[in-house]
Amino acid sequence: MEVMSDTFAAYDHANKNEQEIAQSSQCGCFSCYTTFPAADVKKWTDGTAWCPLCEAYRTVLGDKSGLLLTEEFLMAAHDHWIGPQQWLDALAVETQSIAASRSRKLPPDVRSAPKCLPWWKFW
Ligand SMILES: [Zn+2]
Repeated sequence: MEVMSDTFAAYDHANKNEQEIAQSSQCGCFSCYTTFPAADVKKWTDGTAWCPLCEAYRTVLGDKSGLLLTEEFLMAAHDHWIGPQQWLDALAVETQSIAASRSRKLPPDVRSAPKCLPWWKFW
């Protein structure tokens, strides 16, 4: 089926897609099923777009990919790639770790350090 190969291709086009999206005019997200101007994509990690609407990572497709960015197709791609819970979990963990590594601006909390008395004070 053609639709199958297209949803397979969706994964490749959702990863490392910065150049492709730069050449696209419209984008579609197969996490929230919306389409939006390619210029709306502002957030990138390792050359891969984040959806500006639902903030999902690796689910944005540019029209330069040749994929039909209809809601029907985006839903099919969602079922294919986001449907399997295993993959969804792996993606969530990865997304969280990337987000965490970006928000680590605060110095380590001193109060959380173990409060053990230096042993030599006892001698
Ligand atoms: Zn989205």
